[in-house]
Amino acid sequence: MLAITARALFTPLEKIEQPLVLVDGDKIVRISSRFSAEIPAGAKHIDFEDSFFAPGLIDLHVHGAMGYDLMQDDAAGAAAFEKFLVRHGVTSYYPTTVTASLGDTLRALERLGRSVEQAETRTQDSRACPLGIHLEGPFLSHLRRGVHPPDRLLTPTLDTFNRFWQASQGKIKIMTIAPELPGALEVITEAVKLGVCVSLGHSDATLEQTKAGIAAGGCHATHTFNAMRPLGHRDPGIVGEVLSNVSVTADIIADGVHLHPSIVRVFLRAKGVERTVLVTDATSATGMPDGRYMLGSLEVEVRDGKCLHDGKLAGSVLTLDQAVRNAMKFAGIDLQQALRLATLNAARAVKTSQGVLQEGSTADLAVLAPSGEIRATIARGAIAD
Ligand SMILES: [Zn+2]
Repeated sequence: MLAITARALFTPLEKIEQPLVLVDGDKIVRISSRFSAEIPAGAKHIDFEDSFFAPGLIDLHVHGAMGYDLMQDDAAGAAAFEKFLVRHGVTSYYPTTVTASLGDTLRALERLGRSVEQAETRTQDSRACPLGIHLEGPFLSHLRRGVHPPDRLLTPTLDTFNRFWQASQGKIKIMTIAPELPGALEVITEAVKLGVCVSLGHSDATLEQTKAGIAAGGCHATHTFNAMRPLGHRDPGIVGEVLSNVSVTADIIADGVHLHPSIVRVFLRAKGVERTVLVTDATSATGMPDGRYMLGSLEVEVRDGKCLHDGKLAGSVLTLDQAVRNAMKFAGIDLQQALRLATLNAARAVKTSQGVLQEGSTADLAVLAPSGEIRATIARGAIAD
């Protein structure tokens, strides 16, 4: 039994002052105020003093870090990547594919599906766990593809989607799709039936096309503003609908590069702290010095915090704990609100039970300084500094 104490705990919707959290194996068995409960005899007590506890962070959109790209079959690279995530407070993530050939995509989905399955039985190894796959591409708009290779983009069909679904062993939990593509609405309907969070993105959709995608079951938006038809005051398009529709949650890359800080503030005003999700879109260059790295089959160059391919932004070098601190600074929200965007809101978007601290939940906790710096992370009950 592990007993941990700190200055306060964010569930994240509620704040508990002077919390005492009891962890048994990989589960939280009790959360209370330290003044109303005793530390059980024989429990190992660690006092994190003036730190805050929050649920472990959850990244819905990440391609790699520490030189490892998730499209690569490299077990040692994957382990180093998952340890890197934990150092940044991330205990769960959704490995995100990049558009590639059909064969490469199927092979990546098979391998990532297996890793999700294996992670379900992993305990106390202080690494971040993959909870499900994010399929980003190939059902993307040519006009808004970003750096996804144009010759590999596909028109959505049920047949292709079902091949992806089978290869992943049903582990695709998020799919980014442009709703205006022919066949997209049928694929969205099918994916939603299978429990996939359909996220609209890499899209040139008009307002009406976006509404049709949402009516078919789309409920989230991928890196809002980036790789989207721009918001026009006489042509609101996908961004206009995403910002104003209360049934849709949406994510942003708050690195100060993909969006101007004032746009992060506008976004938070529109979507509120209830419907905003922070993601990284981090590439293999994250955590590494400036230089050349891979994103799927593309070479990207990193200079001064920008990750570029052919002069276009190609993912980020952002970590999720930095995104939390940036959201506080850019949008003027407090630590508790900012943490909600990277924990509970992310979990709700993909309908997982993680992302909240309560009795019976998995012992995934981030331990933060009042400034939002990560001091320690507890992953499946194991402490990683
Ligand atoms: Zn991406």
